[in-house]
Amino acid sequence: FYGISGRGLSQDSTTSTSGKGGMRLNIQQLSVRLETVAGFVPKNARLADIGSDHAYLPCVLAARDVVSYALAGEVVKGPFESAAEQIKTSGVGDRVSARLGDGMDVIETTDDINVVTICGMGGDLISKILEKGRLKDKLVGVERLILQPNNGEKKLREWLIGHQYKIIDETILEENGKIYEILVAEKAESPENYTDLEYSFGRFLLQEKNDIFRKKWSAEIDKCQYILDSMQKASNDLNEKEQQVINKINEIKEVLK
Ligand code: SAM
Repeated sequence: FYGISGRGLSQDSTTSTSGKGGMRLNIQQLSVRLETVAGFVPKNARLADIGSDHAYLPCVLAARDVVSYALAGEVVKGPFESAAEQIKTSGVGDRVSARLGDGMDVIETTDDINVVTICGMGGDLISKILEKGRLKDKLVGVERLILQPNNGEKKLREWLIGHQYKIIDETILEENGKIYEILVAEKAESPENYTDLEYSFGRFLLQEKNDIFRKKWSAEIDKCQYILDSMQKASNDLNEKEQQVINKINEIKEVLK
């Protein structure tokens, strides 16, 4: 049965019948992080997973019959080959394709993609991939973006809101000592009004302020404090950079109150 494993798919021996044609598949398990992303993919989606080094997400979602079609896009040859191999061994080649290319360049109009996932990269890189895709009309027809930045969440929220996307959900989770945020966005009728705090911390995450959120931002205070201490050791005068770090610490403390 589907369970929890490390960062990708488990290679253990449990088998199950996939929905299509009674084919036998190794039931391979997603990490908690990718499982959470998978939970936001609507039934019958036509998915493009950009930066899909082993095509885990597309393969499992196809095996579960969640997606009717999926693309695994990869810019690096080695990971692209792993993705192609995984698709073959998972027996989902009728519905999943691996394509070698930069970002959303791999998406063709005829793919009719309506959901895009971009996971496991910095928020800055994800924003750049989205912007390049937007300029090449690759986002036309895409109804939902599911994004898992490893950092730079603020930049990514700014790109989304700045391009008239509405963040419809957000979640924060911890796995193997790392904390991840997942952002789900859809095209909005009108631009959203976001405060600076919401860009930095996330509107939904701010409303909830759960334990993982508190853990993430408490660790950020410690990091800022360490930086501040090192700066102050180097010079006694309070300079502009130090003041910025102090302001950041105070902002986080205020949020965590
Ligand atoms: N998405 C998977 C996950 O979350 O487990 C893989 C994450 S892995 C850390 C990031 C992958 O994105 C790498 O395989 C890298 O080659 C790929 N990548 C980075 N920039 C890319 C781009 N512009 N277009 C396509 N793939 C890219």
